[in-house]
Amino acid sequence: LISSQASPGLHVIHIAAEMAPVAKVGGLGDVVTGLGKALQKKGHLVEIVLPKYDCMQYDRIRDLRVLDATVYSYFDGKLFQNKVWTGTVEGLPVYFIEPHHPSKFFWRGQYYGEQDDFKRFSFFSRAALELLLQVGKKPDIIHCHDWQTAFVAPLYWDLYFPKGLNSARICFTCHNFEYQGAAPASELASCGLDVQQLHRPDRMQDNSAHDRVNPIKGAIVFSNIVTTVSPTYAQEVRTAEGGKGLHSTLNFHSKKFMGILNGIDTDAWDPATDIFLKVQYTANDLQGKAENKAAMRRHLRLSSADDSQPLVGCITRLVPQKGVHLIRHAIYRTLEMGGQFVLLGSSPVPHIQREFEGIANQFQDHEHIRLILKYDESLSRYIYAASDMFIIPSIFEPCGLTQMIAMRYGSVPIVRKTGGLNDSVFDVDDDTIPYQYRNGFTFATPDEQGLNGALDRAFNLYNNDSETWQQLVQKNMNIDFSWSSSASQYEELYAKSVARARAATSRT
Ligand code: ADP
Repeated sequence: LISSQASPGLHVIHIAAEMAPVAKVGGLGDVVTGLGKALQKKGHLVEIVLPKYDCMQYDRIRDLRVLDATVYSYFDGKLFQNKVWTGTVEGLPVYFIEPHHPSKFFWRGQYYGEQDDFKRFSFFSRAALELLLQVGKKPDIIHCHDWQTAFVAPLYWDLYFPKGLNSARICFTCHNFEYQGAAPASELASCGLDVQQLHRPDRMQDNSAHDRVNPIKGAIVFSNIVTTVSPTYAQEVRTAEGGKGLHSTLNFHSKKFMGILNGIDTDAWDPATDIFLKVQYTANDLQGKAENKAAMRRHLRLSSADDSQPLVGCITRLVPQKGVHLIRHAIYRTLEMGGQFVLLGSSPVPHIQREFEGIANQFQDHEHIRLILKYDESLSRYIYAASDMFIIPSIFEPCGLTQMIAMRYGSVPIVRKTGGLNDSVFDVDDDTIPYQYRNGFTFATPDEQGLNGALDRAFNLYNNDSETWQQLVQKNMNIDFSWSSSASQYEELYAKSVARARAATSRT
C-alpha cells in the first residue's frame, strides 16, 4: 500500500469507471490516466479506484495482487463483501474493487449498457468510499467522473464525512452532459442515500422528469469543484440548447464551474515510439509516415496505385453526437473527390451499427474505401499514422481527443466548430487567428454543404500545394498537446479549494 504521507504535494484519489488502457470505452479513460500521470509528475500522490471488470486488459496491469483486508459495503439494506486488488497501471497505483454480490455487477463482459447500470455504479461509488475509510486514507481531493461515480459527492458529505473520512474536497468532472444516468427516485435508496432529502429541486431531482433523480445534478450541487472538458463546451452547456436540461443548475452553481481543455498522454501517443506502427517517425522524417500509409493500404487491401492519393481517416464511437450522417456523407464525398477513406468505429446503437454494416458490405472489396466496425486500439494507431486528413463532424463534442492525436501523428483535422474542437482546431484560412495557431479545416453548420466546404478546401491544398501541406503537417506534429498546462489548471483549482477549506477550519 502507498503511504498517504509519502508525497509533499496533494493526495488526489480518482474514483472512475474507466482508465486507459486497462478499461477504456472513450475519452474518459484517457483523461483519468493522462491527468493522473501529469499530476504525479508534478509531485502529487495520485491513486485511482476502479471496478474490477472481467473484461479488462489484465495484461496491462503490473503486480496485480489481492489485499488482505476485505471491505464490507452497504447496499439494499445489507452488507456485502468486496475483494480489493491493487496493481500499477502506467505507473499509477490502482485499487480494483470486486464486489461479492449475487448480481455479479462487474462480471458482464462489457463496461456499460447493462439494465442495472444505476445499481452497478451506485454500488461501486459507495464501495470506493468505504475502501478509503477502511484503509485510513486521508486524501486532499477526491475526484469523481461522469454519472457513474457522481454518487460519490452526495455520499461523501451525507455519509462518509460524518464517519470520519473528512479530509477531502470533492472535484467532479463531467466528460459529456448527454449521459446523466437519471433513474426513478426510489433507486437512490439502495446505496444508502436519503431519497426524501435528495429528491428535491435544489438537490438531485431531475429538472425535466420530476419523479427521477439525476446523479450529474447531484454531483454539481454537492461538489466543491465542478469542471467539464473544454472552455467552449462549458459555455455551451450553460445554454438551454446545450445543457441537456442542466443549464439552470450549472448557471446557479457557475462560481465553482469551469471548462479545462483535456490534454493527451504524449508518451502513450507518440509516433516516434509507437510500437504498433510499421515504422516510427517524427516531424523531421515524414518518409516514415508515408511508409505507414503504404503498409496500411496493403494491410486493408486498398489501392496503392497512387502514393499521393489523399487518405482520410475517422476513428469514433458511432453515436448521433459524432454526426454519423455526416460521416456517411464524408465517405461518399471523399470517393467523389478522388480520395481514400478508412473508418474505424463501433456503435452501441443497433440501428446505426446495422446501417454502417450495410455500407461496410457495399465497399467490402472496394479499392478506396474500408470500414472496420470494431474497437481496436492497435489499428487506431495505424490509421492515425497512415492518414493525411482526419474527419470529426460532431454535432457536439465536449473535448474530443482524436483531433489532438491525429495532429500528433501528422494527420490534418477537418472538424465542426463545436465544444473542444473549437478550442483546439483553427482554420488555416481564418485570418482572424494568428498564423502559428492555424492547424486544420473547420466548418460551422452541421450539414453536408458545411462539411463539403471544409473537405474540399483540404483536398485543394493537399493536391495543389504539397509544400504548404507538409509544413502544416510538421507544424501540427510539434504542437504541445500534453497534459502539462491543463494539469496545472487542475492543480490550481485543487490547491485553492484545499486552502479555502483549511482557512474555514482554522476560523472555527
Ligand atoms: P469520446 O470520449 O466521445 O468517445 P474522444 O475523442 O474524447 O471521444 O475519445 C475517443 C478515444 O477513443 C480516442 O482515444 C480514440 O482513439 C478512441 N477510439 C474511439 N473509437 C475507437 C475504436 N473503434 N477503436 C479504437 N479506439 C477508438
